[in-house]
Amino acid sequence: MRLIPVFAGILLGTSVLPAGKLSLIKSNDAPSKALTAQVSCENRFFRAARAKETTGGPEHQVMRRVASAFGRRDIPHFYIAEEGNNAAYIAGSSSVDGKGKIVISRTFIKLLANTLALEGILAHEMAHLVSDDGACGCDQWIMRDPMQEKAADALAAKAVGYGPLRAFFLRIKETQGGCSMEMDDRLQAIDALEKMERNQR
Ligand SMILES: [Zn+2]
Repeated sequence: MRLIPVFAGILLGTSVLPAGKLSLIKSNDAPSKALTAQVSCENRFFRAARAKETTGGPEHQVMRRVASAFGRRDIPHFYIAEEGNNAAYIAGSSSVDGKGKIVISRTFIKLLANTLALEGILAHEMAHLVSDDGACGCDQWIMRDPMQEKAADALAAKAVGYGPLRAFFLRIKETQGGCSMEMDDRLQAIDALEKMERNQR
């Protein structure tokens, strides 16, 4: 799907995307105006992705577990999209009511095929969400920057442990015919982190 405004999530099959971040424009709008802009941008996005908020079901249960592992009393609004094959957090969404928004497509849930891998990607998106500085709105495109991705992985692993992230990377790799330089790279990074952590104990 081409209409996804936030590239902070994983987009399958887009490994050719250039790394790096587009320059973000800081808004000088009054807070209320910025909030209205955020809400209407989110609504445009949800319509395009045919995304609906869900508050129950097995996927939401995983979302709840992840949020609590992050020590969050507030569970982010959780959306399942009928379009696309990715997962993303909505940049700037915490500014609306403090909870933030995470979206995952039904196709992606099916493709992940297991709860542990789902926990891994949701923890990764949650890591983006909690470190979102709110300086960027939902219609400002964020290209996936490998360093940012690894930072989110590290933060996610700290909250939910290494297992879910590893399951997620391995599953993506599997769906790409067992060959993914990006997933190998991210696997290596968390392996190194875990090793370092073990040595510090
Ligand atoms: Zn990411």
